[in-house]
Amino acid sequence: KYHEQLVELKGNIRVLCRVKPVLKEDQHEEGQAVVVTTDPHNESALTVLSKGKAKNFELDKVFHPQATQDEVFQEIEPLITSCIDGYHVCIFAYGQTGSGKTYTMEGTVENPGINQRALKHLFNEIEERKDMWTYTVSVSSVEIYNEVLRDLLSKDGEKLDIKINPDGTGQLHVPGLRVNEVKSFQHIKKILAIARKNRITFGTQMNEHSSRSHALLTVTVLGTDLASGAKTTGKLNLVDLAGSERVWKSGAEGERLKEAQNINRSLLALGDVIQALKAHQTHIPFRNSRLTYLLQDSLGKGNKTAMVVQVSSLESNVGETLCSLKFAQRVC
Ligand code: ADP
Ligand code: MG
Repeated sequence: KYHEQLVELKGNIRVLCRVKPVLKEDQHEEGQAVVVTTDPHNESALTVLSKGKAKNFELDKVFHPQATQDEVFQEIEPLITSCIDGYHVCIFAYGQTGSGKTYTMEGTVENPGINQRALKHLFNEIEERKDMWTYTVSVSSVEIYNEVLRDLLSKDGEKLDIKINPDGTGQLHVPGLRVNEVKSFQHIKKILAIARKNRITFGTQMNEHSSRSHALLTVTVLGTDLASGAKTTGKLNLVDLAGSERVWKSGAEGERLKEAQNINRSLLALGDVIQALKAHQTHIPFRNSRLTYLLQDSLGKGNKTAMVVQVSSLESNVGETLCSLKFAQRVC
């Protein structure tokens, strides 16, 4: 309940920014300047130095480069608890390729990210509630590449369509999508490994495929109150978005340009939807991309969203960093 109040207090759409530490391999040019600074006295402020001018940004929360995976997860944890309570939750990682989206969501073996921590929390919480509630957890995973949906839990990466349920409720469904029931954290770890492997396999024909597709992991949590039989349906969508870099600026042509336009369109559509929700508009433009269309039942009113905007602090990336922060500000 305390978590619940905390989330209400902070609003249903939270925009966080994580500044990537400067790694050795990022220093292509010797002594490149660091142009992004965080403020130790104000955890929502960020300053970017560009063309000799300091630009200030204000977000819900900024993680400095040394912030740990655990610190990031602590901000997200209340949303996972909400999901068990029956909310629909979306967590996105946004940013240019190399800015740390996959690190934040998937993490590494030594430093797992939000996905694993969320699922661990989910199963721990379910265990704690077992005298009062019983839960069924199931997962599915898709990638959206060039506006085409593929099942990441099927070896041959079947192409999927989004259809409106014929039952008249207006609900969407994805015929043929594999949905696996999972019993434990260990079990779900195996499924995550399959999705990761398939994502790499689908991408072999193309370089950097994974940075140009959105990867979604959806966890459905059906709860039953043992005393009253009351039911809840929570949904958790964990989304590693395609790289937000403006590829056409580098003179891309043909397939590469089409790809870039599709990515740009779907990220813009996501920004439009979040902005419309924030402004309590009556028309929310879900249909402008596969991503927002697929997520519409989780993004709408009464649901909860966290957007983690990843930025590099190096001078060579300042253009993309400013673009990402503008996106953050638009939805903030
Ligand atoms: P993206 O998914 O946005 O393209 P990655 O998550 O793959 O970027 O990050 C690029 C590289 O930087 C990876 O090797 C990743 O492990 C590393 N990295 C990113 N963020 C951090 C961080 N906060 N701490 C340590 N290493 C990081
Ligand atoms: Mg990535």
